[in-house]
Amino acid sequence: ERILDGHLQDDELTEEMSLRPTTLRQYIGQHKVKENLQIFIKAAKMRNEPLDHVLLYGPPGLGKTTLAAIIANEMGVQFRSTSGPAIERAGDLAAILSSLEPGDVLFIDEVHRLPRTVEEVLYPAMEDFFLDIVIGTGPSARSVRIDLPPFTLVGATTRAGLLSAPLRDRFGVLSRLEFYETDDLCSIVERTAEIFQTSITKEAAFEVAKRSRGTPRIANRLLRRIRDISQVKGEKEISIETTKEALRMLQVDSLGLDHTDHKLLLGIIEQFHGGPVGLDTIAATIGEEAQTIEDVYEPYLLQIGFLQRMPRGRVVTGKAYEHFGLERHEEK
Ligand code: ADP
Repeated sequence: ERILDGHLQDDELTEEMSLRPTTLRQYIGQHKVKENLQIFIKAAKMRNEPLDHVLLYGPPGLGKTTLAAIIANEMGVQFRSTSGPAIERAGDLAAILSSLEPGDVLFIDEVHRLPRTVEEVLYPAMEDFFLDIVIGTGPSARSVRIDLPPFTLVGATTRAGLLSAPLRDRFGVLSRLEFYETDDLCSIVERTAEIFQTSITKEAAFEVAKRSRGTPRIANRLLRRIRDISQVKGEKEISIETTKEALRMLQVDSLGLDHTDHKLLLGIIEQFHGGPVGLDTIAATIGEEAQTIEDVYEPYLLQIGFLQRMPRGRVVTGKAYEHFGLERHEEK
C-alpha cells in the first residue's frame, strides 16, 4: 500500500476512532467550512429543526467523515454511517432511513457511487421525508408511501462534479475541504503525538507537516512510522534527525512526493516532453486508473503547481522540472 495515499488502510482501523476530534472546536483548520457549519448548526438548533443536507467534497483523508460525525455530535443526534456502494437496492436504503430517529445524521461516503435506482428513491426522502417504494412485480406491483423521520444527509465525495445534478441540487450546504496549511497540519501532528503519548520536537512536527501533502491522514500515518523508529532508537522525544531518516527510508521526498508522483511526473517529462498529454494516455503509460490519478495523485500536484490542467491535457511545470534538477526544453 502506498504510504502517501489518503485512504484509510486496514491496519489503521483500530486507532482511527481515538484520533478523531469530536467537536468543531477540536477540529483543526478548514476555517471557512467550520465557520459556515457553526452558523447553520446554531440556526437549525434555534429553530428546533434538523440541519439541512450537507455535501462535503475533497480528496481522501482531509476529514470528511470526521466532520460528519462532529455535525451529529454538535446537533446532539445519532450518527449513522454507510457508503454509496454498500446500498445496492432501494430496499436497503428504506431499511436504513426508516430506522433513523428524528434529526439523526446519516453519513453516506462515496455518495456518487449510489446506484441510479437508489438515487431516485433518495430524492423525495431528502426533499419531503418520504419514500415511494414499489412492492411486487408485474401486474400486481404497487407503490407504497412510507413517511420518514426528518433527518440530515451528509454526503461525501472526492469531487462535487461526480454527482448527478439532481442529487447535487438537493444538498442545501456544499462545503469543499481544502488541503491543510502546514501550520494547521503541524498542530494536528502535535495533537496526535499527545494521543500516542509521545513527545516530538517542534521542528520534527513541522517537518512531518511539510511532507504530508496537506492531508491529516497522511500526517498521522507518517508520525506513526516515525514514532516506531524513534522508539527503537530509545529517544525520549522524536527528533528532527530521526524524522528525516525515517522519511528517507519511507522514500518520501522533501516536498512529500513519493515514487508514484515521480513516476507520473517523470513519465510525462520523458515520454511526452512535459505535455500537454491527456489523462487517459498518462494512465495507460504509468499503469494506473485515470480516476485514481484524478482523485488521489493529481490534486496535490496541481495544488503545489507541479502540474497544470490545460485544454489539451496535463502539463508538467518548470517548478517540477526544477525539483528534479531537469531543464524544460520548449517544443516548437
Ligand atoms: P476523509 O473522510 O475525508 O477521508 P477522515 O475524516 O477519515 O477523512 O480523516 C482522516 C484522519 O485525519 C482521521 O484520523 C482524523 O482523525 C484526522 N483528521 C482529519 N481532519 C482533522 C482535523 N481537522 N483535525 C484533526 N484531525 C483530523
